[in-house]
Amino acid sequence: MQIFSEQKIRNKISVLKQIPVNIEYVPNKKSIANFKDGTNCSISCLNCKNPLCMKYLESEISFKKVPTFSSDTNNNACPVNAIKWNPETESPEIEQDKCIKCGLCIKRCPVGAIYCDSSVKVNTEKSLMQEIVLPDDEKELTQKEQIEELQTIPKIGTLFVETEDLLNEIYEKLSNIRHEAHNIIVRNILLGLGCSCAIRRIGDVYTRMDAIYKSGDNGIGAMEIEFGKDTLDASRGILDDIAVLNTRYNISKEQNNPLVVCLQLPNARQGYWQVVKDIKIVENIKINTISIGALLILLWNNKILNLCTNPFYADFDNMSIKKYVEDILGRKIQLIDGSIGIFEPIK
Ligand code: SF4
Ligand code: SF4
Repeated sequence: MQIFSEQKIRNKISVLKQIPVNIEYVPNKKSIANFKDGTNCSISCLNCKNPLCMKYLESEISFKKVPTFSSDTNNNACPVNAIKWNPETESPEIEQDKCIKCGLCIKRCPVGAIYCDSSVKVNTEKSLMQEIVLPDDEKELTQKEQIEELQTIPKIGTLFVETEDLLNEIYEKLSNIRHEAHNIIVRNILLGLGCSCAIRRIGDVYTRMDAIYKSGDNGIGAMEIEFGKDTLDASRGILDDIAVLNTRYNISKEQNNPLVVCLQLPNARQGYWQVVKDIKIVENIKINTISIGALLILLWNNKILNLCTNPFYADFDNMSIKKYVEDILGRKIQLIDGSIGIFEPIK
């Protein structure tokens, strides 16, 4: 399938001489491809015919579990359009003033050719393990097959180490991105965490919920996405979403594992946590709550989000999600979270 709607003129593509056994992310450095014979090197951009770092395939963003859900068809991998095709280098390029350092394009590139030192960059220094060839049918097929294989090899290491400085920088940028990007960034992070996810088509008021997701362990649920301060609406809105999924899409209340994704965890005085607790007591529905920062940390550490196995339930009696993130990471998080609201409400 062609990712670009218009045909881009290509004079070159790259193919690998050998497929690595894994790709290892190294914070602040180029990723390393490790080979079977014990050698390793960094691989530069393959000038992909269909660059996964830029676009999702239609099959990746269609939500098969509920085919009638009115999904947004935006297939940009970068939620803020910071990654563009450079026709001169025939590789992607990052617009630094737009980039929010989410790491999604880094995670999407099958050879680890995108990395972040002080900023996110595409590695274009050709390595010994690749050859640049003329695009013809045969080589395009070789590249396509290699990319399919590269998508299946393990990705190890850490994209970014979570620090207060980095998360403060990202949160500052996230609080200023345009409204339409909010749902896209959440969908793309969930896809990166091994979930299926569809967001509501822009302008569709009939569907009501912001998104619907399915995690690898078959958790399925309605989603509300909230970047603003008033998260109280999200906990109330999710009840409406559960009813809509039940009557219109045949997903029962018992099957539904609802999820609220917010930029910052709601303030303790706002009422959100009390409503979540009330809904659990009265309806026996446990609403999961997770912040964008927590999702990003899991993404940077190559984790999978399985919400049935690892629920993110917090309410008025315990408003912290830190333990859930640490359980998945298998380590403690050394981050003072006083001003961002990633794991606990801002004091
Ligand atoms: S950065 Fe990666 S995914 Fe993007 S075109 Fe280059 S090799 Fe392909
Ligand atoms: S790091 Fe995120 S914001 Fe920056 S170019 Fe990649 S996908 Fe876009």
